[in-house]
Amino acid sequence: MSDIRTISIVGMGPGWEEGMTFEAERALNDSDVIIGYTVYLDLLKDKYGDKEMLSTPMKQEVDRCRMCFDEALKGKKVAMVCSGDAGIYGMASIMYEISEEYDGNWNLVVIPGITAATSGAAILGAPLNHDFVVISLSDLLTPLETIEKRLRAAAEGDFAIAIYNPSSKKRHDYLQKACGILMEVIEEERPCGYVKNIGREGMSYKVCNIKELANEEVDMFTTVFIGNSQTRIIDGKLVTPRGYRK
Ligand code: SAH
Repeated sequence: MSDIRTISIVGMGPGWEEGMTFEAERALNDSDVIIGYTVYLDLLKDKYGDKEMLSTPMKQEVDRCRMCFDEALKGKKVAMVCSGDAGIYGMASIMYEISEEYDGNWNLVVIPGITAATSGAAILGAPLNHDFVVISLSDLLTPLETIEKRLRAAAEGDFAIAIYNPSSKKRHDYLQKACGILMEVIEEERPCGYVKNIGREGMSYKVCNIKELANEEVDMFTTVFIGNSQTRIIDGKLVTPRGYRK
């Protein structure tokens, strides 16, 4: 039987060092090579500068995965890094899919990280403190109709919503469109908020209502939060009650 080769798929949290788990830190320390998108490697350079670091340009995620298997076949201990959690719009699933192309005895270890929904929620207060859904507005890998269907269903289900990938250069009006769809069901005053650059330089947040949110400029490093029908603004923070006081 061939050797068991381990590749760690590491969620590094939102960006700041203390937002990384001990397990993630250990996997990076134990690795020979760290592979990831350049923005995330830059965040790790100070601490792991002695490691070999490899990347591919943005949108070449599949090549980046193949790079992991190719480097592991050379006998190196490989850690692939993703921002937030590796299994939430991250690389964990594609790593499993690509593993099927490579002969060998693979041991893929997924190391969870703090995802933008929870790190961003903590900054805004407690917007996801009841049932919630996470929806990405990116239509690169998901048809637009599916995204719109899920937005409507989330609003109809009265879920609090965390929105990932709310905007990009090509999709600058997607958040506005998403708010339009949600406002077919929910009222214009619904408390909302967003956080930019969580755990990174230039972090900022705003609490507003959904009508105002529709006109906000957000970028790809923003996570957006829509309250449910019970969400309130308390002392400037967004709070979705659990219901204890009823
Ligand atoms: N795996 C990541 C999500 C990758 S999808 C995670 O679990 O957090 C990329 C989207 O995640 C961004 O468009 C943004 O909506 C959100 N995001 C990731 N990191 C962020 C950060 N530091 N600040 C704000 N939003 C972030």
